[in-house]
Amino acid sequence: MSSIPYEMKKCPNCGHMYQSYEGYTDWCEVCNWNVKPRKGEFYDTLYERIVHKLGDRYSKSLYQEMITIESVKPGISWQMVVSFIVASLVFTFWLFLLYADIFLILQYLNIFAIIGSVICTMLLVTLRPRISKPPQKYMSKSDAPILFSIIEDICSELSASTIDYVILNHEHNASMGYRGIAQKRVLTLGYPLLLVLDSQETVELISHELAHNINRDPMRGYIQWYAASSLERWYYITYPDEIITTNAGIYALIFSVPMNLLMWCISQMFLGLTNLLYWLMWRDSQRAEYYADYLAMTMSGNACCETFFRKLMYNSELQLAAQRAVLAKRYDAVFEYFIEAVNNIPETEIKRIQCVNMLYESRVDSSHPPTPYRIGFAKSKGIIPPKYHLKDYKHQQLLEELKKFEKEISLKLADEFRNSVYRR
Ligand SMILES: [Zn+2]
Ligand SMILES: [Zn+2]
Repeated sequence: MSSIPYEMKKCPNCGHMYQSYEGYTDWCEVCNWNVKPRKGEFYDTLYERIVHKLGDRYSKSLYQEMITIESVKPGISWQMVVSFIVASLVFTFWLFLLYADIFLILQYLNIFAIIGSVICTMLLVTLRPRISKPPQKYMSKSDAPILFSIIEDICSELSASTIDYVILNHEHNASMGYRGIAQKRVLTLGYPLLLVLDSQETVELISHELAHNINRDPMRGYIQWYAASSLERWYYITYPDEIITTNAGIYALIFSVPMNLLMWCISQMFLGLTNLLYWLMWRDSQRAEYYADYLAMTMSGNACCETFFRKLMYNSELQLAAQRAVLAKRYDAVFEYFIEAVNNIPETEIKRIQCVNMLYESRVDSSHPPTPYRIGFAKSKGIIPPKYHLKDYKHQQLLEELKKFEKEISLKLADEFRNSVYRR
């Protein structure tokens, strides 16, 4: 039970009196008002509504499939094949531009060829495949021998590919990424999240990320990612700033309208193609998440799933801690406040997080299935005993080992908080 003071406030939606804790989200448990504060102003556009509707429908049917099928290992789907074909076409078009550019340069005496090659070169540069650089800052084995030994153990248990870089950052999150031409594997773990997870939840987190390396072809992923970002660039290139050009005289005004309308239509075509590609990739990526969840459960067991998903939502507690540290001018003490906030979470906030986790809210362009489906999927597999036991003393050693990074991460969080306030 929380001992922190609260104020009684009246729900603007139904009039129910609710407890309001300073720093936590106000919400009404009677009518669910503000259970999930919405950010962004474009939430309710037609496109957003379609995306949510389709997302809900597809998520549900995929979930039903996932809890009934025997083998959760993703196979090849038609969406995967079509998305790869679309992506390959986009990439081939870039190669065609390269060919056309060389051809035009060879005709250098012709004025039209010169103009054409300048346009081609500009497009080539804008749409070039971008290769991310390997990370500059990462941990070496000597920095965190226990963490590395846990990662290696889980890797070999899962028969997953080994990791090239391990990064510890300030986010309440974790991820698996691929960098450089060789698509080196980068495991990023958020220190705040590691701090609140217990031993088996930690196993679940690390196993989930490592599991993304099984059954994955980084090159296919890269081409799809390239194509989607390339189509998005095409959209921005072709989208006209205005339909009627008013500041350049009467002729410009007359001629600009059909030209801008044409460009607008072309831009919408690119927007449609971008969305199509995301939708095609959607199923593939959500299936991959279920599969990673499943493999993670075989390591950690599935008894800790519900608390694991709840702790993933402690973002607002971290924000609150950063705010308190900044107000107290104790920039290196964010985690002191964070642990205090986590240990004293008001009952209403835990309920709110559970409610948010129970929202079957999905977008057809989101990579993860809604949390209730992930929890339901975990439960549908019966009792899965842990295959990898992280002993409590070793988990404790892990936290002690990472403690030396705490101050730097705390300063970073405080800095980020100050910047966000300053920007407003
Ligand atoms: Zn209410
Ligand atoms: Zn994942």
